Amino acid sequence: MLKPGLRERSVTYDVAVIGGGPGGFPAALAAARNGARTILVERSAALGGAAASGLSILGFLDRSGNKALDGIPQEFMDRLAALGGAPGHFWCPVHNSISPVSSDLVKIVAMRMCREAGVDILFENELIGAEVDENARLKAVTVFGKLTNTRIEATQFIDATGDGDLAYLAGVPFTRGQEGTEIMQPSTLVFTVTGHDLEKLFAFLDERPEEMGIKEDYADGYDVDFLRRTRGHCFIGLTDLVREAREAGDFSVPRNQFIHIATASEKLLTINTSRVTRIDASDPVELSAGLETGYQQVLEIVEFMRKYVPGFENVVISQISPALGIRETRHFMGRTRLTMDRLYTEDTSRKAIAQSAYNVDIHSGTGEGIDLTVIEKPYGIPYDCLVPQEVDGLLLSGRTISVDSTVFASARVMGTCMAVAEAAGTAAAMALAASGEVRDIDIEELRARLVAQGAMIPA
Ligand SMILES: Cc1cc2nc3c(=O)[nH]c(=O)nc-3n(C[C@H](O)[C@H](O)[C@H](O)COP(=O)(O)OP(=O)(O)OC[C@H]3O[C@@H](n4cnc5c(N)ncnc54)[C@H](O)[C@@H]3O)c2cc1C
Repeated sequence: MLKPGLRERSVTYDVAVIGGGPGGFPAALAAARNGARTILVERSAALGGAAASGLSILGFLDRSGNKALDGIPQEFMDRLAALGGAPGHFWCPVHNSISPVSSDLVKIVAMRMCREAGVDILFENELIGAEVDENARLKAVTVFGKLTNTRIEATQFIDATGDGDLAYLAGVPFTRGQEGTEIMQPSTLVFTVTGHDLEKLFAFLDERPEEMGIKEDYADGYDVDFLRRTRGHCFIGLTDLVREAREAGDFSVPRNQFIHIATASEKLLTINTSRVTRIDASDPVELSAGLETGYQQVLEIVEFMRKYVPGFENVVISQISPALGIRETRHFMGRTRLTMDRLYTEDTSRKAIAQSAYNVDIHSGTGEGIDLTVIEKPYGIPYDCLVPQEVDGLLLSGRTISVDSTVFASARVMGTCMAVAEAAGTAAAMALAASGEVRDIDIEELRARLVAQGAMIPA
């Protein structure tokens, strides 16, 4: 008889990517395509991260409607489109662009692309340890799943966990939340509904145009006609209905507006209206409590829709996101930290390995609103934002990169995270080929390689 107890495994790779979201799977893909034996570890049962929750992808078009992303991010969208899982990029006066996706096809396409490139995927395994040697070099991590500890030794690691769990364990310095206050943007339990009648909502908005929620100058053209003709839209509004419901005791969510987002299917709408404030989602107890609040809010929002929102009387929940959507936790320190005053400097552009075209979009961590600052033209994300301070053998990807909390509010979107990830994976493979450190790679060569792969970076 076998003795019960935890099992121990040990494996060795060139590159190990921890986290399989928009900041993770394109990194694994790029590393493998550039010749590295690569493993991708994901704690859930699917790749895609927040892209598998029902949200649409932001960041593909800039304010003028020009394309800002290509390479692996666009290839991913093309593969989704071929299966009916991505109807295209839709320009928007508020969000610059919305690219709806099928949350389920995201899981399959991301997995297929990784497997085709030879990436080994380890699902349902969570990072629990990191080994850093006396030279401050990350040597190995331990992940845990199904009563098994797997020790992964690798030459290069990429942290794509969102919260930066690996960088945290390895000892990379970080700040938390917004500069100055440490307040974090709120979390949201996203869910998807079906059974809505959008034409009925639009007819209501014809009668009550003041219920279109964004009225700032930059939102010129964000009206009901825009919603009608733009299949891939994000609707923000119903301020009066939300107030009415709150006064009647039917709405306790700390948000002053209702938000729905198109998905790849016209039969499904994603609701981004829940708001869990004042939690640090990198803390397990606060995260758990945040989920409880999120679930309570989902039901309340469904009841609000049925009672108050024209066209939503018969909605039913199709899916609740399997994870709480976490906007912000730790911000790690890299060799450089991009700040708003340096978005368009020559140094930033010269070292850029990805473009970011989305607006600065700060959801209040304490109040009800959203503070949005338009980004008129794409800026570059310098390679040094991916290279952490104090630890070798590690790159930051996705929303863990080294930017201040204001730039973060723009660069955190999934399109940008995918572009950053392509650069991270490519850089890890280049360092490996040169038997060197990621901090020493030639940025010009990385940029040239990214361009050859089809990526868009500032000239
Ligand atoms: C409510 C909400 C709405 C948003 N709306 C949009 C939107 O409409 N469009 C848009 O483009 N962006 C949106 N964003 C931003 C965007 O979703 C995230 O910033 C982006 O997904 C970050 O990508 P990531 O890969 O770094 O993290 P994630 O997407 O969170 O992926 C991280 C992955 O790592 C895994 N993981 C985490 N920790 C571990 C661990 N310790 N071990 C192993 N695996 C781990 C997770 O399971 C997950 O799969 C939104 C964010 C939130 C929270």
